[in-house]
Amino acid sequence: MKKNWIEKNLNAFSIKPNLMEYFHERESFNWENVAKEFDGLDSGGLNIAHEAIDRHANGPLCDKAALIWLGENGEKKIYSFSDIKKQSAKFANVLQSLGISKGERIFTLSTRLPELYIAAIGILKNRSVLCPLFSQFGPEPILQRMQRGDGKVLLTTKALFEKKVRPLMKQLNDLRYVLLIDAQEDESERILSLPRLMEKAADSFTILPTDPEDMSLLHFTSGTTGMPKGVVHVHKALYNHWMSGRYVLDFHPDDVYWCTADPGWVTGTSYGIITPWLHGITNIVDEAEFDAVRWYSVLQNEKVTVWYTAPTAIRRLMRLNNEPTKEYDLSHLRLIQSVGEPLNPEAVVWGVEKLKMPIHDNWWQTETGAIMIANFLSQQIRAGSMGRPLPGIEASIVHHNDDGTVTEVTEPNKEGELALKPEWPSMFRNYLHDDERYAKCFVGGWYLSGDLAYKDEDGYFWFVGRSDDIIKTSGHMVGPFEVESCLMEHPAVAEAGVIGKPDAMIGQLVKAFVSLKTGVEPSEELKRELIGFGRKRLGSAVAPKEIEFTPNIPKTRSGKIMRRLLKSREMGLPEGDTSTLED
Ligand code: ATP
Ligand code: MG
Repeated sequence: MKKNWIEKNLNAFSIKPNLMEYFHERESFNWENVAKEFDGLDSGGLNIAHEAIDRHANGPLCDKAALIWLGENGEKKIYSFSDIKKQSAKFANVLQSLGISKGERIFTLSTRLPELYIAAIGILKNRSVLCPLFSQFGPEPILQRMQRGDGKVLLTTKALFEKKVRPLMKQLNDLRYVLLIDAQEDESERILSLPRLMEKAADSFTILPTDPEDMSLLHFTSGTTGMPKGVVHVHKALYNHWMSGRYVLDFHPDDVYWCTADPGWVTGTSYGIITPWLHGITNIVDEAEFDAVRWYSVLQNEKVTVWYTAPTAIRRLMRLNNEPTKEYDLSHLRLIQSVGEPLNPEAVVWGVEKLKMPIHDNWWQTETGAIMIANFLSQQIRAGSMGRPLPGIEASIVHHNDDGTVTEVTEPNKEGELALKPEWPSMFRNYLHDDERYAKCFVGGWYLSGDLAYKDEDGYFWFVGRSDDIIKTSGHMVGPFEVESCLMEHPAVAEAGVIGKPDAMIGQLVKAFVSLKTGVEPSEELKRELIGFGRKRLGSAVAPKEIEFTPNIPKTRSGKIMRRLLKSREMGLPEGDTSTLED
């Protein structure tokens, strides 16, 4: 790695590399102080919708833009906090009029339309549970999730309903209503026009007492390692959302924020809806799918200051080999954060070179509900590291012993499982219908994340791999991320996915699937070159022994490399659950 080069360049962006301050914040931190940031409900308790929208709409921010919606075809709509308050009150009243009450699950299956964001807040106001689905799911994953989640209402569009849901209606016995965002007339007693219902509904709504422990969201995981799990969250999670908005996204009152994740995934709700609004920040939503020119134009035209995105998108931008800061005015942008997968050091360097600022990696999971570990703006970035735990979060590296006990690894730079000390407010409260699996995540006073990592002398965490993806070769443990990152340093490589292929001699052989940059031709010579390139940097024990070129690496719809699929295809085994596989 060009370590010295990176550190030299990154130093320039480190605003206050002050470890003492970080440790002081951690020491003086307590959740009671965070609680003081919120109003609470007059009726009692704590409700996300009130803290994110109503309290701002009732105060000086009432006319401030809460949502700037960019339609796929160039349309633009702006909603103030007051608008969202009224519209979401209407939606909550619609649910009331349909007899939908506390704890009942409302599924959403929609592209990123304003109604989706309004409904999300309305659902929480009604103390019902928001269960977002990704609009590109096919019928089977929709059916499976709605049945498992006991969906009472589905919010969707006419087109998505026709294509994906109508054929399922007979099997969805518990589903009472379908609300169609763009239908002017009801189709039946069960399939209703949302505009018609909204028109009749009152635009004020009193949120009833909400216990901070009441269920707020049900999110399905990405399915990277197997069947997606239904993860249960509660209203109190907003403490962590607020915290990460302050410390990681570094929100200031005038920020214009863009989170590119779809609300079908936890990042798209926690950080595409809840967190910016808890801070009274203007939130950009783009209806369209990824397109490099469009994305740079959004950053420029909307004067985005804080951008939260994912490694998969960054890798796609990197493929272009262009000079974004010369072609677009990105001068308003001051912070880029990334989550979802390891951020290859090469991507951090690319950020410095091409966007004139580094990209900050952070780590969390659907289960943790909010960001747990991050590279803070206020600190020195370590390229390739996920950063340090947030105040209020205790993270460690542990070994899960064969006798069922857990030992903390105190020595720096030693690999083990990344674990968190329960419980923090946004910690999941269960896996839906799977108490046993939930219980298994907590051992010896730790929550075990299933990710392998190590911690360096200064408390930065470094991702090694998911425990399921780790390769055991000739007695070594190899994390695929390290090998993928190395290959990405080669100028011909756009992306790589690395697996362990069973081998009689050495246990597993490191095999890399490589997709090449536009214009680069695959050849046997290039394969040999890449193998040599890997050997030189990683040593022969870790370097890939086999390379296969492929135009596309299989990914989840949330953009994560599905190594389990590369592996089962390689071995000719059944592919398992592919409901979240990108088309
Ligand atoms: P499933 O649990 O269904 O297999 P998933 O774990 O991919 O899917 P998510 O909860 O969406 O579902 O993703 C969380 C996981 O993503 C983490 O456990 C980790 O493996 C990976 N991840 C997230 N952020 C980072 C990061 N910054 N660096 C490395 N890995 C990350
Ligand atoms: Mg997971």
